[in-house]
Amino acid sequence: MSLDIDYYELLECERTADEKTLKSAYRRMAMQYHPDRNPGDADAEARFKAINEAYEVLKDPQKRAAYDQYGKAAFENGGMGGRGQGGGFSDFSDIFESFFGDAFGGGRQRGPVRGADLRYDLEISLEDAFHGRTTEIAIDVAAKCDDCDGSGAKPGTGSRRCNLCGGHGKVRAQQGFFVVERTCPTCHGRGEVIEDPCRKCGGEGRVDVRQKIEVTIPPGVDEGTRIRVAGKGEAGPNGAPAGDLYIFMHIARHKVFERDGTTLFCRAPISFTTAALGGEIEIPGPDGSKHNVTIPEGIQSGKQLRVRGAGMPVLQGRGRGDLVIQIDVETPTRLSARQKELLREFRETETGEECPQSRGFFDKVKEFWDDLTE
Ligand SMILES: [Zn+2]
Ligand SMILES: [Zn+2]
Repeated sequence: MSLDIDYYELLECERTADEKTLKSAYRRMAMQYHPDRNPGDADAEARFKAINEAYEVLKDPQKRAAYDQYGKAAFENGGMGGRGQGGGFSDFSDIFESFFGDAFGGGRQRGPVRGADLRYDLEISLEDAFHGRTTEIAIDVAAKCDDCDGSGAKPGTGSRRCNLCGGHGKVRAQQGFFVVERTCPTCHGRGEVIEDPCRKCGGEGRVDVRQKIEVTIPPGVDEGTRIRVAGKGEAGPNGAPAGDLYIFMHIARHKVFERDGTTLFCRAPISFTTAALGGEIEIPGPDGSKHNVTIPEGIQSGKQLRVRGAGMPVLQGRGRGDLVIQIDVETPTRLSARQKELLREFRETETGEECPQSRGFFDKVKEFWDDLTE
C-alpha cells in the first residue's frame, strides 16, 4: 500500500528540519497530491497517503526519534502507533482535515454505487410505432441535490470517518464457524458519516426532481420493446453516477390492424357476389397508403391474401413485413323483394356443381345415414 520512500524525502525536507518546516512542507505536498486535485491518478493517491503517513510520524517527537533510529521497522509488527490503536497511520484523513478543513468540499471518494435503473411505461399508437417519433416524457427522478452537490452534508460542513467500521465501510461478525463481512449499518458502506445533514435532501444527497426527457422512438417498436436512455435513471447516493432509464413500449389497440411482429393482419368482409364473381377491394396500409387487392373469383371465407412489404418496418433494420388480409364472406341480410326473386331464379338453375364443398359434404352425410340403416 504505502510507498517505500524515506519520510523526509517524501516531504522534501532535511533530516534536521524543525517542526515548522515539516508542517509547511506537509501542507504543500498534501495539497499537491490530494486525490480531489488528481482524480483517477492512482500514483498521486499513493503518494498522498505516503505523505500523510510520513507526517503522522515526523510531527510526533517520540515517533520521529524512533524513525530516525530504526526507520519504518520501528512501526511494524506491533511497533508503536500501529493500526487499530486510535492514532495510527490510518488516521491520516483526520489530520488532513484538521489542517485544511473542507478545502476540497468533502472527504475521500468511495467506490461508486450506481443509482437505480428506472422503468417507464409508454403507450403509443400503431401509426407512431410505424413511423417512429420523438416524444417528451416527464418523470420524477431522484437527482443529485444541488444544495450539497450530492454529498448529503450541509454546505460548508464535511463528513467524518465512521466509528463503527473505522472507515472500511464493512464490519465483521462471527456467525457460527464463519466470520461474515457485511456492509456497515451505520454508514451504509460509505465509511463516512455526515455530522450535519443537508436540509434540502436530509443527508441523502438526492432529491426528487421532475425531469423532462426527450425520447426517440425508432420505427418498428413493438409491444415490450425496451428503449434505454443512459444516465437518466436515479442519481447515485452521495454523488455516485446515475442509473439508466428503460422505457417499455406498449402499442395501443388499433381499429383495423392486429399485429404479430412485422406482420399486420386485417379482416375484410366482402359481399357474396364479389366472392363469387371476383373483384377488387381497397385496403389501407398503416402509413395511410391504399392497396388495391384483387379478389379472385370463387374465394372462400377465411382465405388469406398477402400484400408483401406492406406491414410494419423491421426495428433497426431494413424492409417491412407483410400485410395479411383475411377474407370474410358476408351473407346478405337485407335483401329487397326484387333481389330475393333473382336469387330464387338463380337457385332454380343450381345443379350442385357450383358448390363442390357442400355437395361433397352432403354426399358424405348421405353415406353415413346409409351405413347406419344397413
Ligand atoms: Zn443536499
Ligand atoms: Zn461504517
